Amino acid sequence: MPAAALAPEVLAKYEPVIGLEVHVQLLTATKAFCGCANHFGSDPNTNICPVCLGLPGALPVLNAKAVEFATLASLAINCEVRERSIFARKNYFYPDLPKGYQISQYDKPIAEHGFIDVPTADGSMKRIGVTRLHMEEDAGKSLHDGFPDSATRTYLDLNRCGTPLVEIVSEPDIRTPDEAFEYLTRLKEILLYTGVSDCNMEEGSLRCDANVSVRLRGAEKFGTKVEVKNVNSFRFVRLALEYEIERQIEVIEAGGRITQESRLWNAAEGRTYSMRSKEQAHDYRYFPEPDLPPLIVSPEFLAEAKSKLPELPEARRARMVAEYELTPKDAATLTNSREFADRFEAAAKTARNPRRVANVLLSEIGGRLNALGLEQEQSPVSMAGIVQAADLLDEGKISSKQMKQLFDVCFEKGEDFPAVYEREKPEQITDSSALEAMIDQVIATNPKQVEQYRAGKTTLAGFFVGQVMKATKGQANPALLNELVVKKLEG
Ligand SMILES: [Zn+2]
Repeated sequence: MPAAALAPEVLAKYEPVIGLEVHVQLLTATKAFCGCANHFGSDPNTNICPVCLGLPGALPVLNAKAVEFATLASLAINCEVRERSIFARKNYFYPDLPKGYQISQYDKPIAEHGFIDVPTADGSMKRIGVTRLHMEEDAGKSLHDGFPDSATRTYLDLNRCGTPLVEIVSEPDIRTPDEAFEYLTRLKEILLYTGVSDCNMEEGSLRCDANVSVRLRGAEKFGTKVEVKNVNSFRFVRLALEYEIERQIEVIEAGGRITQESRLWNAAEGRTYSMRSKEQAHDYRYFPEPDLPPLIVSPEFLAEAKSKLPELPEARRARMVAEYELTPKDAATLTNSREFADRFEAAAKTARNPRRVANVLLSEIGGRLNALGLEQEQSPVSMAGIVQAADLLDEGKISSKQMKQLFDVCFEKGEDFPAVYEREKPEQITDSSALEAMIDQVIATNPKQVEQYRAGKTTLAGFFVGQVMKATKGQANPALLNELVVKKLEG
C-alpha cells in the first residue's frame, strides 16, 4: 500500500478508468506458422525449427486451427469477425525473440467491437466493451534463475516462439478493481467453454496487462494512464489496481503529475515499480508481413465456426435456472466448468426428476464436499450414484433421512452410492396393515390435531407422517405412509 493511507473522502473524489489486455495461448497441436509441437513443459529448445526461430529464408504458413480458434473466441465475446485481416510485423529486439519481430495484427485485426457482460456489486449486469481481438505469435522465454551460474547468465528457451496467441483488448469501460476481476473471470470462463485455451495462468496460457488512470469524478477527459504488466493471477490484478489507483491519487493530491509508463507488479511486496525507461521506449515500426497473404475468413468458414460454438456460460445458467428451478447461485455452481455442467445434465436427463438430481447434488453432495474442503472431482459419489439416490427418493423407496445416512457412509468409506446402497439397503416397512395400525395409534393419541386437520389445516398431515416415521425409526415407506395417513384422516 502507499505510504500514507488516503482518507476515504479523498479517494471518493476520483474515478478510476481501467482497460485490460489479455493474452491467451491457443490449444492447437502445432504452432501458429510452423509444424512444431505447441506443448508446455518439453525440454528447452526441443520444439523449434527454422521458421519459429526466424532463420533466413524460412517462410511461415498459417495454422488453420489457430484461425478457427481465434474465430470461435471472437464470436464467444460478441465480436464482429473481419472478412479480410492483415498480419503485420511488430519489430523489437529482445534476446528471447531471435527473429527480431513478432507476427501480429495491427490496424486490421481479425475481430472488433465485442462485449462481455459482468455482474456488479448491486446484482445488475454491466456491459464492458471489447475493442478488438487480434492474432499473434508468442516469443520465447528468458530463464533468469534455476542454474548454477544464474547470477551472471540468462538462459533462453525458445520452445514458446511461434505459439499461437490471441490478444483481447477491452475498452476503458472498467471502473473498479472488482469489475476488472469479474471481467477477467467471465472472459476466462467463456474461453474455457469454447475450448480454445486451457487458460492456465501458472503456465502462462493466460496473461494480463492492465491500463489504469484516475480522473476527478465528473471529468470528461481521461487521466494519464499507466500500464501494469506481469500480473499472473486475477487476485493480483485486483491488488495491483487497488495499489496503483491509490498511488496515482496520492501523486495528484500532492500536486504531482502521473508519468505515462509501464510498471511491474511485485506480488511479494504488494506494490508496483516503474520499469526502466529503456524497456518502455516502444516504437514497433509495424508494417504488413510480406511473407503472409491477407487472412480471409469466408462466410462459410464463419458459419462453420458459429455452428461449433457451444452454449455459453451466461445462457446456460439462465436456461438451467428455469429448467431445474435453481437459484442463480446454484446455477453458477453447476456451470462452473463446461465439463461438469455436461456431466450433470447428461445424468439428470436419465433421472425420474432432474430437479431432484440438482437438489441432491447441491445440498447433500455439495454440502459434504464443502465441509471437507474437497473439490467436486474428489467426491466418492458418482453422478450415476446421485441419480440413483434421487430416483430412490423420488419413488419413495428411501426417506431423505435414509439417503443422508447412506451418503454419510459413502463419505466415511470413500465408496460410491450404488455399492453402499446394495450392502446397506435400509429395511423398509411396506406392509400397509402394519402402517395403518400405527397410524390409528397416532390418531388416537392426538385428537386435537385430528380435529384441526378436519377443520381444514391439512398441512398437519406432515405431523402424523412424522410421528409414524419416528415410531418406525425412519423405516416406513414414505410414499405409502403419506398415502395412508391422508386416507385415514379423510376417512
Ligand atoms: Zn517451428
